[in-house]
Amino acid sequence: MIPQNIDLFKQCKAIICDLDGTIYLENTPIPQSHDFVQKILTSGKKLFYFTNNTSRSRATYLEKISKLGFPVADKNLITAADCADSYLRRHNYFPRIYLVGNRDLKTEFESRGYVCLDDVEAYRQPLPAAVLLGFDTELTYRKIHTCYDLILQDVPYIATHADLLCPVTRTTFKPDVGSFISLFETATGGKKPVVVGKPHRDAVAAISERAQLPPEEIAFVGDRLYTDIRMAMNFNMVGVLVLSGETTEEMLAHSSDRPKIVVDSVANLIEHL
Ligand SMILES: [Mg+2]
Repeated sequence: MIPQNIDLFKQCKAIICDLDGTIYLENTPIPQSHDFVQKILTSGKKLFYFTNNTSRSRATYLEKISKLGFPVADKNLITAADCADSYLRRHNYFPRIYLVGNRDLKTEFESRGYVCLDDVEAYRQPLPAAVLLGFDTELTYRKIHTCYDLILQDVPYIATHADLLCPVTRTTFKPDVGSFISLFETATGGKKPVVVGKPHRDAVAAISERAQLPPEEIAFVGDRLYTDIRMAMNFNMVGVLVLSGETTEEMLAHSSDRPKIVVDSVANLIEHL
């Protein structure tokens, strides 16, 4: 069966692929996802991978994508950490920041020229230029306390993304940054961060800049309604929902986030490239 609106996909000059749930599930490639990616490249369209997940650095992601057998170069990967870096620099929140993130992410930000203050340094004057909340799976109470104190002192507060949960398998999840945001919102009496990853404007800007194309010539292929598909819908990209990750037909039926195209998996897109 030919998916509805498939011509919109065919006309796109760049394809942006979400990672987890779209081309692989945890450490297992989705069937025929290699052929899909290969066909994008041979078709002459531009290929990018986009992840909101900041529990790992760009370097670790590049290694993972490559290890799973997908072609990838540094220029093909866009992460929410890239979006955060652009935002921080644009606002001159540089170089001293308090990063709530794993050691891997800290190493990445240090290599980008940031000084990531520790829990003692973060309290000294001048206060950090910003607090950056990433997907910290090494989160400690000490970090929660420091982050809370800085937010209360009105240090600019930025989160890499706001996904509530991160998939572990198709049916199991772990708490993601959106859940941490709720914690700080409750503790601080309602303070919310600027969020820069999908589905927000900074993510679209990062994609458009990298692809050198206007949003309407870009297809975003992803499995999550409130990030991948919402961004495509709000910013005029061609949103392609794959049902190989967390979204079920029932979730789609009840959602206001509307994809332009729905397919079971990327395997169904190969013949349309
Ligand atoms: Mg996903």
